[in-house]
Amino acid sequence: MTTPLFAPALAFVDLETTGTTAQHDAITEVGIVRVDAAADGTGPPTVTEWSSLVDPGVPIPPMIQALTGITDAMVRGAPRFGELAATIATYLDGATFVAHNARFDYGFLKHAFAREQRAFSARVLCTVRLSRRLFPDADRHSLDSVIARHGLPAADRHRALGDARVLWEFVQALYRELPADAVAAAVNRVMKTPSLPPQLAPDALDEIPEAPGVYRFYGLNALPLYIGKAKNLRERIGAHFSSDYRSATDQRLSIELNRIEFDETAGELGALIREAALVKSLLPAHNHALRRKAESGVLELGDEPGPPRFILAAAVEPRELAGRYGPFAGKRQAREALRALAGEHGLCWKALGLEQRPGPCFARQVRKCAGACVGEESAAAHHRRLRAALAPHVIPPWPHAGPVAIRESNPLTGKVDVHVARDWCWLGTARDDGELQALVEAPPRARFDADIARLLMRTLARGRHQVQPLPTPRA
Ligand SMILES: [Zn+2]
Repeated sequence: MTTPLFAPALAFVDLETTGTTAQHDAITEVGIVRVDAAADGTGPPTVTEWSSLVDPGVPIPPMIQALTGITDAMVRGAPRFGELAATIATYLDGATFVAHNARFDYGFLKHAFAREQRAFSARVLCTVRLSRRLFPDADRHSLDSVIARHGLPAADRHRALGDARVLWEFVQALYRELPADAVAAAVNRVMKTPSLPPQLAPDALDEIPEAPGVYRFYGLNALPLYIGKAKNLRERIGAHFSSDYRSATDQRLSIELNRIEFDETAGELGALIREAALVKSLLPAHNHALRRKAESGVLELGDEPGPPRFILAAAVEPRELAGRYGPFAGKRQAREALRALAGEHGLCWKALGLEQRPGPCFARQVRKCAGACVGEESAAAHHRRLRAALAPHVIPPWPHAGPVAIRESNPLTGKVDVHVARDWCWLGTARDDGELQALVEAPPRARFDADIARLLMRTLARGRHQVQPLPTPRA
């Protein structure tokens, strides 16, 4: 019988080591069974075996010597990892990395390669997780239990090549015991599902839909640690915990995370709006990018020469914001934008109000300012150039007489969200006719938010959504 393979090439890998931590311990033996599918896809696969003892450069703890049978005397004179790295890389090249408790072997190899200045990454399949998915009723999934359950031949247990061979035997046994598509489905599932932090249920991801939305990570407190948006909630949440690469923020989140909540939305616009609104009302500890108090504002430029003024959006009626510039999430962001414009257009930091001290402005000293501060450019000429430079940032007038309904629907999930907006403010999202009616009859007071306003400008300019004028409520 020809065993079908779920990938063009599989590398069954087992390592023996001096301990359990990839950062501090070293490899003492590597065993690889590489299985390549026949080129025509029908013949028997090609099986190649390779193994070598590795001199770890440090003594092997006696307990580990007893467990693996690999002694200091055996590894003395064996090649160091650096001498084997190229060969090992060749055996793993392009293959799916299969190991029992794969995170361990994969992590060890990745660190060992990194110490040799070699990058290494592979698609990883953990046979513990595969066994758990295919035999959920079994209590134990250790290699010994798997061998006993499937009656696998197991010579040379606890030596690297012996254990790697057992894994290949296990995969062949799966194809004898189960339909090929059941094995393939389980493999897909295990490889796609990242392992979650241990404080969450192992199937916590299963209840999260593959749909757009907003998610919140909670620790033990009532306020979320982190709020995020996603086109695909399950994939995005899983990505925070994928073993291959984690940001420092994700590592801290994994430790603190205790509970996940999510809201499914019909599409990306709804997810973005909700994220912006939630982050500002809840101020989660780990949302550095979006974390800020609501102090959105705009810049106003007078007719006479003078620096642009920052006005808090809350101080004016949303309708009055058109014709001003921005919007900006805060005063700091407005000043950053002015500095960028100054650099691009040779504008003067003093004329922009970014600097007060006497003498030439900072930009002039680095030959970026055209000279308004030293009398080389008239105030009127500078003001004209400033107005031109700001022109692309002008807030357009709200293109409708009153509120509009922006319809967002998802053909895959059947979900429909109707976002109600007016004067570049979001008034709410209705999920049915009743909610829409309520928003039309008693709209909440419009609160301007720079991030949401920019989203709405982009959305209406693109014209991809169905936009419908709504009746204006009588005052
Ligand atoms: Zn200047």
